[in-house]
Amino acid sequence: MEKPIYFDHAATTPVCEQALEKMLPYFSEVFGNPNSQHAFGRESAKAVDEARDTIAKIINCKSSELYFTAGGTESDNWALRGVANAYRERGKHIIISPIEHAAMLSTAKALAKDGFTVEYMKVDEEGFVDLAHLKSIVRKDTIFVGCMLANNEVGTIEPIKEIAEIAHSVGAVCFTDAVQAAGVLKIDVKDLGVDLMSMSSHKIYGPKGVGALYIRNGVKVQSILTGGHQERMKRGGTTNVPAIVGFSTAFEIAEKELDQNFKYVSSLRDHFIDRVLNEVPFVKLNGPRQNRLPANADFSFKFIEGESILFSLDLAGICVSSGSACSSGSLEPSHVLLALGLPEELAHGSIRFSFGKHNTIEQVDYAVETIKSAVKRLREMSPLFKSEGEIKYV
Ligand code: PLP
Repeated sequence: MEKPIYFDHAATTPVCEQALEKMLPYFSEVFGNPNSQHAFGRESAKAVDEARDTIAKIINCKSSELYFTAGGTESDNWALRGVANAYRERGKHIIISPIEHAAMLSTAKALAKDGFTVEYMKVDEEGFVDLAHLKSIVRKDTIFVGCMLANNEVGTIEPIKEIAEIAHSVGAVCFTDAVQAAGVLKIDVKDLGVDLMSMSSHKIYGPKGVGALYIRNGVKVQSILTGGHQERMKRGGTTNVPAIVGFSTAFEIAEKELDQNFKYVSSLRDHFIDRVLNEVPFVKLNGPRQNRLPANADFSFKFIEGESILFSLDLAGICVSSGSACSSGSLEPSHVLLALGLPEELAHGSIRFSFGKHNTIEQVDYAVETIKSAVKRLREMSPLFKSEGEIKYV
């Protein structure tokens, strides 16, 4: 069998050659603990400092405002829990969007059990935050307002600058999860006006298990990982030097290639969306056409379970996700699509395609042809389609 086609770049990406090459010496040659007070330690510490400077420059913050973590999940947990604990005397009101990643939603649920009040911003049918609603729910005791920069499932790019202004109007800390956006969109934390921002390496051709949290100087965030004080007293754990070197190298390349990749990947995506909308009946594009991540296309196929299309595509050598990668495998409908107002059966039938810089137009066309035949075959077997679709729509 030929190598399968990978259309799941929002789940993870392969490590690029340059990052891999840069990382290799840090596993065995330059292996010192950067906190050690000797030559081996100093050499590792220099690599970590350089990586921090590189990423800080790209997102326009000071190096002292950037903390390395074990990835987006830890950064999200740390941001929300860390702010809640640091500001609990000032207030206990937290606002997040209902389409956040599970790392945020689950942390918010845990904080609600711990006496905090969690409220959710409204989003419209394309996933954009309703700013008027947000304005109406912020209060004097709101301590945290959090919304992702771009949604991992439907690709919606949120108006973070406006969200930050509303958060600051009541003195709340504003957080954004940029795991899907950093290295894909141009990001300047000062221009966005956010106080905290999560990033992850493995979405941008860097290694897994490493990420960062931007914490604006002056913003209080309590530690959640206690133990050592490796990340300047704020985050314990022996520094993952090779991963950090790989992360910063991948980020540097992503930044250099940003315009070119955006143009290329979004052209594949647009071609795909146009063909599917024109050639597959009873299909709904989830998320917007404009202000959408360049790689993302998410469809609900009426009368068919997302899982059955996923398996048919997998058999044909095409790798995609049903809903978010984290909730795939569960029978729950996507919380994102439900928040966008989709009925349960469509929220169950969604498939996310996320393209990458190594994909080709031929692969995209092959996927469209495969989808057309899989959808036709699955609908022929679907009693729902026979009773509703054929009669109502065909
Ligand atoms: N936030 C978003 C928006 C994501 O898409 C993901 C991963 O899918 C995460 C957070 C978690 O990041 P990580 O896999 O680095 O823990």
